[in-house]
Amino acid sequence: MTDSTHIASEQEARDVAEAAREADWSGASFARDIYLGKFSLDLIHPAAKEDPAEIARAKPFMDALREFLGRVDSDMIDRTGEIPEEYINELRAMGAFGIKIPTEYGGLGLSYSSYVKAIALVTSKDGSLTALLSAHQSIGLPQPLKLFGTDEQKKKYFPRMAKGAISAFALTETDAGSDPANLRLTATPTADGKHFVLNGEKLWCTNGTRAELFVVMAKSPDAIVRGKPRRQITAFIVEKAWPGVEVVHRCRFMGLKALENGVIRFNNVKVPRENILWGEGKGLKLALITLNTGRLTLPASVASGGKALLEMSRTWAMERVQWGAPIGKHEAVAQKIASMASNTFAMECISALTVALAERGDYDIRLEAAIAKMYNTEHGWRIVDDALQIRGGRGYETADSLRARGERPIPVERAMRDSRINLIFEGSSEIMRLFIAREAVDHHFKTAFALVDPKSSGSEKWAALARVMSFYPRWYPMRWIGRGQVPGAYGEFGQLAGHLRFAERHSRKLGRALFHAMLRYGPKLERRQLVLFRGVDIGAELFAIAATCVRAHALAKEGRSEAIALADLFCRESRRRINKLFDDFYGSDDGAMFKVALQVLKGEHAWMEDGIISMLAEPTTVVPSGRPTTERKAGAVGIA
Ligand SMILES: Cc1cc2nc3c(=O)[nH]c(=O)nc-3n(C[C@H](O)[C@H](O)[C@H](O)COP(=O)(O)OP(=O)(O)OC[C@H]3O[C@@H](n4cnc5c(N)ncnc54)[C@H](O)[C@@H]3O)c2cc1C
Repeated sequence: MTDSTHIASEQEARDVAEAAREADWSGASFARDIYLGKFSLDLIHPAAKEDPAEIARAKPFMDALREFLGRVDSDMIDRTGEIPEEYINELRAMGAFGIKIPTEYGGLGLSYSSYVKAIALVTSKDGSLTALLSAHQSIGLPQPLKLFGTDEQKKKYFPRMAKGAISAFALTETDAGSDPANLRLTATPTADGKHFVLNGEKLWCTNGTRAELFVVMAKSPDAIVRGKPRRQITAFIVEKAWPGVEVVHRCRFMGLKALENGVIRFNNVKVPRENILWGEGKGLKLALITLNTGRLTLPASVASGGKALLEMSRTWAMERVQWGAPIGKHEAVAQKIASMASNTFAMECISALTVALAERGDYDIRLEAAIAKMYNTEHGWRIVDDALQIRGGRGYETADSLRARGERPIPVERAMRDSRINLIFEGSSEIMRLFIAREAVDHHFKTAFALVDPKSSGSEKWAALARVMSFYPRWYPMRWIGRGQVPGAYGEFGQLAGHLRFAERHSRKLGRALFHAMLRYGPKLERRQLVLFRGVDIGAELFAIAATCVRAHALAKEGRSEAIALADLFCRESRRRINKLFDDFYGSDDGAMFKVALQVLKGEHAWMEDGIISMLAEPTTVVPSGRPTTERKAGAVGIA
């Protein structure tokens, strides 16, 4: 075992991440092809149609959920920082904690797409409720149990959760945020091998303060691989009722005020071996695979939030008259409204497409899910910002304050606070870009890396050379020729055909650009995050263009031809971003920027920070009256 205070080196962190990566691609991937310079539109077109039978099956639940949400007082939840027990019991009664759990175990047995729609509906009303339901079902126990659980585990835990036992996903620790190599919570086997004893603490565990069940990622004894120790992370199902499980602190945040999130301590917790999920040493892989589908909820939630903000903004922009006209008719505001509409449409297209692909079964969605998470949360954040700007001073005022002085209590201020976290949890934007970049260059990596890796043997280099010679002489020239150059290609898409021709041409250009970057930097490319991230962003934009055109085309065929104008505007904006990213692919200022960053980090510009009260000064402890305390006191969690 490694020492418990040791912070993993860069190499160790990479090794842990690589070991947990799914090395093989289980199915096709449109996004993966884009990064390889191939625009395989057939993989996503025609758009999958929703199953009317599934919609009918989900209807009673969706109706009940909608009716319930109509009665939810979200300002009260935000103000008090608590979700009333009656609300949770109502959600339990309608089956909202077992949406995807098969009916044989007492769940609603609905599809992933119905689940995502339900969560999106909740988000349009209340972020704290979304977090409660989604932390339980997107990443909490139901998801990994469905994917990796044994029959016994399913029989034992699914029925409990279908009745409303809440679960939580416990990966993060104080030193292990984005980097799981620093995980310290240990799982030590007992002498008879029948149990593991868990010791350590988990941080920011959503639902942790209320959960009956946890999925806990723990460091089990190192495996010896080729004579060397290899870190093992194992996932366990842990019950809150077991001796030694303790909630030691409830965390409070900028938004999502009623989040049931905390620090959970595991003190000599004895867990039976049969509560290992999937297998010893497979915990991190399990966490990553769970997150692959789990992260499809956020893109849909963000798209739904975008719709709610769009409805509010367009109404307000017509009602509010300043300088002789509704503010929506002043060009600067009109531009925001148009961009909100086209981007909300794009977010919905991306979300619907990724969910449909995830349901296919023969498709590897890891890249699409990461793109959807990154793209929608970033675009969603811009939409919240624009909505607040359009509401002016009222956007900054709390709903309670607006109500108290007789105005409509539109909660844009809360929406902004609630949504900022979306860019951080379930994989921060930076970590998503790193993840996408790694997957995007995987084929090149597998084909050619051994050739430039100083650690590879002579025979490995020869094998790599053979692979290179059989792949690149055919692949590279083909990146210069394609359908996007043919006038009239993609004609069936009418007004949108030009955007698809652009996307096809620029997919090939992206494939070439990433290849050229590899030739230019070799193994050092992984250190050029900004170059890689520009490539990632171009791929994400191309994916968004394709998703948007395919869905708009399908909607137009169903009579909703208005969608074409939204798709067209979105593609125009996206193309401009793509051109800009290509124009500065190697980042003419990257070097100067990094140099200044190093100077700043060394404190060489601390002279500029004169005349301030430092944020780093010791904080005063303030416990707001009428609020649960968040003081860190073992065994004393200030929750109802
Ligand atoms: C409200 C809330 C709910 C949460 N719920 C859960 C939960 O239910 N279960 C759970 O296990 N965890 C949960 N988390 C933890 C969450 O997933 C982490 O906050 C997230 O993984 C980032 O870790 P960190 O905050 O420690 O950031 P750090 O890892 O310290 O990163 C700080 C910043 O540096 C960037 N960064 C880090 N490494 C790199 C790199 N190599 N290259 C470029 N940039 C980098 C990050 O993107 C980030 O911007 C929650 C957190 C919050 C705040």
